[in-house]
Amino acid sequence: MAAAHRLALPWGFRAGVAGVVKVVVGRLTGIETVLLDLDGTLYVGSQVVAGAPEAVRWLRDQGLTVRFCTNTDSIAPAALADRLARRGFPAAEEELVTPVAVAERLFASASQARVLAVAADEVRQLLDRFLAGPGTPATHVLVADPSYGATYDDLDAAFRALRAGAELVATQVNRIAARDDGEHLDTGGWVRLLEYATGSSARVLGKPSPEFFTAPLDALGRGAQSALVVGDDLAADIGGGHAVGAATVLVRSGKGDRPQLDAQAEPDAVIDSVADLPGLLRG
Ligand SMILES: [Mg+2]
Repeated sequence: MAAAHRLALPWGFRAGVAGVVKVVVGRLTGIETVLLDLDGTLYVGSQVVAGAPEAVRWLRDQGLTVRFCTNTDSIAPAALADRLARRGFPAAEEELVTPVAVAERLFASASQARVLAVAADEVRQLLDRFLAGPGTPATHVLVADPSYGATYDDLDAAFRALRAGAELVATQVNRIAARDDGEHLDTGGWVRLLEYATGSSARVLGKPSPEFFTAPLDALGRGAQSALVVGDDLAADIGGGHAVGAATVLVRSGKGDRPQLDAQAEPDAVIDSVADLPGLLRG
């Protein structure tokens, strides 16, 4: 994209300024695939963003392919599809792109993965056939959402496995998880803790990893230049999408109306919420 077409994005804009702040129209034509973030974009905590189900329906009605690309790592993909349906976003499991599903594929493709998983029971059950048994040295340490109640002992076991040579794999490295009662510690802090203590660097499966965006596009036989990433996280969604060459739209729901660390990424457009996406794409 020509640098001249990119406009500065001052952080003075706040919700209440209706509609679109900035659009680089040329970037938003020829879109075939829309990669939608979930938390902060379609819903915030348990609250569905007003107009979001209608916006997703509109995208599908235009013949656009929708993929739900989330860093949600506390539940298995099937449960996430149920959650989406309950919230007004009927989605097939194959339309979901989650780091838990990526982890399952990664361990299936590794030869004889034996995984020590710092992860919720549901995620551990999904990965059951790969889990290292008692006394078996782990080949991988997976850190997923620790909010299930991970303890010092869990992290210490992970630390010891890493020191013994296991590879550190992180579902995602988000700093903040926004829930109904405000901000909480997300997976990233736990991953960084283990990196600090062991000197290792995690392989990150979720956003902003380039493969997270290109894998669903590869499966469709499409390139990133015809893809649009929509999300509320400047580093994970906008930075990640831009890095693979996709167009990006920041929504000001969720985290999108706050200054964010690692916020160098610049979206092609900013809208109040995903409900404004049809108007944006109609031009
Ligand atoms: Mg989000």
